[in-house]
Formats: sequence, C-alpha cells, structure tokens
Amino acid sequence: MYNVGDNTYLKQPKVMSDKTVDALLVRIKNHCLLHNIKEFDFSFHGGEPLLAGKDFFRKFCAKAKAIIPSDIKVTFGMQTNGVLITDEWCDLFDELDILIAISLDGTPEANDKFRVDHAGRGSYKEIVKGLKIAQQSKKLRYSPSILSVINVESDPVEVYNHFRNLEVDSVDFILPHKIHDKRPATIKKNGIIEENTPYGDWLIAIFDQWFYEKKPRPDIRFFDAIIAIILGMDVPFEYLGGQNNEILVVETDGGIEAVDSLKACGNGFTKNGVNLISHELDDALQNDLAILYSRSHQMLCNQCNCCPIKNVCGGGFFPDRYYKENGFNNPSVYCQDLTKIITHIQNSIIGCLSQADLQSLGIKEYSYTEVRQATYDKLMVTPEPEYAWMLEKFSS
Ligand code: SF4
Repeated sequence: MYNVGDNTYLKQPKVMSDKTVDALLVRIKNHCLLHNIKEFDFSFHGGEPLLAGKDFFRKFCAKAKAIIPSDIKVTFGMQTNGVLITDEWCDLFDELDILIAISLDGTPEANDKFRVDHAGRGSYKEIVKGLKIAQQSKKLRYSPSILSVINVESDPVEVYNHFRNLEVDSVDFILPHKIHDKRPATIKKNGIIEENTPYGDWLIAIFDQWFYEKKPRPDIRFFDAIIAIILGMDVPFEYLGGQNNEILVVETDGGIEAVDSLKACGNGFTKNGVNLISHELDDALQNDLAILYSRSHQMLCNQCNCCPIKNVCGGGFFPDRYYKENGFNNPSVYCQDLTKIITHIQNSIIGCLSQADLQSLGIKEYSYTEVRQATYDKLMVTPEPEYAWMLEKFSS
C-alpha cells in the first residue's frame, strides 16, 4: 500500500498512541454492545507491525481484555514480514494469543523481485529465518500461515513446491492489487501477447497439483474458498463470493477507513474525515465508500450481474474494479483470469461428485468460452442496475 501512489501515510504517526488505542477500544466496545456482536477480530498490520515493539502489543491486548466485555470473543492476528521474529516474540505471541501470518512470495527469485529492504536488498533469507524460528518454537500452537502475492513471471509449480519444502501449513495466494487504469501486465513472448489469462493459468497449474495430491498438503485459502462456495457454503471472503465484507481499517492517527487496498485508486482516496476520537464505528460504516466495499459482492456492475458464475466470483476484490472514468461500475480487472480459474475448479469438482449431488447443488460444467458468451448474450438485453450511479460516484 506504500507503493501505489497514496502518500497520506507520511502525515501519520508511525505507531498508534495510547490515547488513540484507548479511544479505539471504547468505540469497539460501544459498537459490539449496540449491535449485539459476540465476536470481534483484530488484525495488526503495518508497514511492519513488529516495529511497534513488544510493549505496544502487551498494553494493547491487556487493555482490550479490560475494556471489551468478556462475553465478546476477541481474537488477534498479525500480518508481518517475519524479519524481526525471535524466540522472545514467539513467547509473546503465545502469551497474548496472537496468530501470525508471514508475507513471502515464494522462491528467493520470486520474493526478492518486489520484497526488498530500504537498501534494495532482497528479504527472502531474513523472512525464512523468521519463519523457521516461528515453526520451531515450542510455544506457538499454530504454525504461521503465508501470504503470497502472485508473480506470474515465476514458475507456479516451483513456487508451490517451495512452500511445501518449507513445510508451511497454509498459503494465501493473492492477486496483485490493480485498477483498470493500471492493468496487470500480460505475458509477452517475443513481443507478442500469447495469453490473456496469465493469473488464471498460473493458479490452475498449482490447483492441478494440489487438488489431486494426498494430504497432508497446505491449505490454500483461495482454492478452499472457491470449492466451499461452489458447494453452497456461506464463506466470508473479501476476494470472492457473495457475503458482506465486515472489515474496517483504523490508521495510526485514528482515522477509520474502508480497506487499505483502495489506496490504489488515488492519493487520499480512502480519507473520509471520520476519526475515532470524535466518531463511532457506525459513522465510518455509513460512509458511501465503506457501504460499497461492504456490499461489493452484491452491488455488481451490469456485466457481473449477467455472469453465470457471479455467485462464486462476486465481481472479485472490490478495489480491482476501479476505473477513474466510471468508478466501481466494472467487473474485476482480473475478470478473465477469475473466469478461467473458477470454471476450472468447478469442472474439476464436478468430476468427483455423483449425479445426485450435482442435482441438489444445481451446478453444471461450464467452459471459459461458455461463461463469456452467456454473459455477453444476457448483457445485450439487461438494463443497468438502478444503483449504478452509486458505483460511479467515485469516478474522477
Ligand atoms: S467472472 Fe468477471 S463478469 Fe463474472 S462475476 Fe467475475 S468479474 Fe464479473
């Protein structure tokens, strides 16, 4: 999020002050009591959250337990680059019950292309050192999961096998955050674009090994979620599906905003004047951008509304729909890739189900071309949704 053209973070404190933490926890308590919420998840993000220091987390978690009523289940997670992890940190994660996820993009070559330190040096070695400390810690009950941003120039099977060799239990592959004004690169060979679904094809190469592999194998959230949604389960997942996104981001200055990936849409795009020193969480949730983000898998553009796999895809990740010309009134910038991977997974599952299962689930085989054709046929006779103006409100 620091490399997508938004520099508002330069005006914010590096770490949240005690006063802001206190205000945050009181707002959360009020919100849970008002709406009878019984579970609340915190996820510590940065920058690099470990730079805040151990005392910050000790105080934060102790205050959370003191301020939030005990009948509300509170969980803590953290997304870290892993570089600073030591045995002492693992002891603290155990003491405070913080689950950790480490950002690592695969092999040394794949990772070090984008994950570099301030001097431009690749961070692979340091990340894996931290990962190994966490994996070998006798204190941690759960091995760290991995968050991996897809780099289509890397070999997918090599990346997957690399994670297997590192003995990770869970990998979360995510698409790089892009908008229609800055579309993802297509793969060019000899100057000719040879394929237009590089991300879909990259994921399919991993899926085809993973799906038929004997367990134990790592959980891959992207595949697990698609399979569960195809099988009719309600899966809250910001990247796909049909559920609401129930996430807010609180900046170190107390600003309450919609998801930080929206910073890719423009400098200051997420700034809304709502701060927890003077506002309740509901004030942030009533902001138009937060409403759209929260309901993004239901408030789809016309093309997505006509798409036969919309219940699984849900238009993809909301920020990836943005185009300066017409805001969020678009399919995902990864529409073709998502069509490719979702149809591939659906057709693979169908091969494993009985006719009775297929009938009760109401799913059938779809080729990539059939989905595209069915979408365009329906689009020709379907009017724009009446909420389209709201999706376009954020055009610039
Ligand atoms: S596959 Fe494309 S058209 Fe279909 S729901 Fe997803 S983004 Fe929309």
